[in-house]
Amino acid sequence: MKRNRDRSAQLAAKCDALKARLVAAHEAALLRGRTKVNATLLRQDGSYGFPDYVERGYYLDRPFTCKDCGKQEVWTATQQKWWYETAKGGVWTMATRCRLCRRRERERRNEARRVHLEGVVRRNKK
Ligand SMILES: [Zn+2]
Repeated sequence: MKRNRDRSAQLAAKCDALKARLVAAHEAALLRGRTKVNATLLRQDGSYGFPDYVERGYYLDRPFTCKDCGKQEVWTATQQKWWYETAKGGVWTMATRCRLCRRRERERRNEARRVHLEGVVRRNKK
């Protein structure tokens, strides 16, 4: 009886080792060719918990609908990596505008700033 118990414990250990190897291989396969998250480069953020991409370890292309024109667009894994790790965008922020509307919004903001600054200059001259 003891022998049987030893054998089943041995088998269970072997099984666990095999499972661990499979899980590791599976994770390696998932990460191959993925845009990996480098969490040390993310903007520090006081909130609890982590966004899904941090838990997952890599970015996934995210389809979204532009909030200005309603166009369907994809925020790619590479763009997300740049946004979060290089541009230091907030870790919970997501793309909301398509490329065209983003450019239009940037121009609108720049124009508003220019008009505002001109007003300041004009007031100061008086
Ligand atoms: Zn748009």
